Amino acid sequence: MQRKLAAGNWKMNGTVADLSMIDSLNSAHPNPGCEILLCPPAHLLSQAVAQARTGPVRIGAQNCHSADTGAYTGDISAPMLADVGASHVIVGHSERREGYGETDADVKDKAAAAQAAGLTPILCIGESLEQREAGAALDVIRAQLAGSVPGNNTAETLVVAYEPIWAIGTGKIPTMEEIAQVHAVLRADLIDALGTTGATVPLLYGGSVKPGNAAGIFALDHVNGALVGGASLTAQDFSPIIEALS
Ligand code: PEP
Repeated sequence: MQRKLAAGNWKMNGTVADLSMIDSLNSAHPNPGCEILLCPPAHLLSQAVAQARTGPVRIGAQNCHSADTGAYTGDISAPMLADVGASHVIVGHSERREGYGETDADVKDKAAAAQAAGLTPILCIGESLEQREAGAALDVIRAQLAGSVPGNNTAETLVVAYEPIWAIGTGKIPTMEEIAQVHAVLRADLIDALGTTGATVPLLYGGSVKPGNAAGIFALDHVNGALVGGASLTAQDFSPIIEALS
């Protein structure tokens, strides 16, 4: 049985005042059957962890460096994230792969660093529109999975998120058949690579998940939750998505 996870990626959005959303979710957990994670930008992590402490909401980061310390101006390491109380870190988001040239090998190193620091990496993979239109989506995501999953994993220490790049922030989503096909292939590859652990690693879908389409996506086999961008910025949008994850 896979854990269910509703994870919100705030990207470069949010102020201290916006963390009041944690209080709303903590006081009225919309669905005790699933884990709720919010990933605010790094400057809000300490405050978010302090605010989340009394309830079920957990706090994650959006990126980490693969080294523990060093001369990497502007970066933040996995042990630093663990030090402030983060539980998860997103690695390999397409905005990092595209904007900062992160390769599968970089993502694998970051995921391994996260695990070594006691964090659970949420490892993102996904094809571009050109790759999907060329019929290469499955090959691309399978290669990304093979190239970026680190060596030692348990169901508690790895989450994989399928995020088609063309669906992120666009309001477009793949068909239900396309999502189901990708998730079935990813599940099979995870089992091949990790044995019984691969059967229990949570598999999230991400890309324009909204209150109106969440239930349909969550009804698909091998979809164990969502990585949500825009619709995770307010409790009004995020709560119904969490509720739909039954
Ligand atoms: C994301 O940033 O990972 C994401 C899925 O964004 P959105 O939900 O806004 O498409």
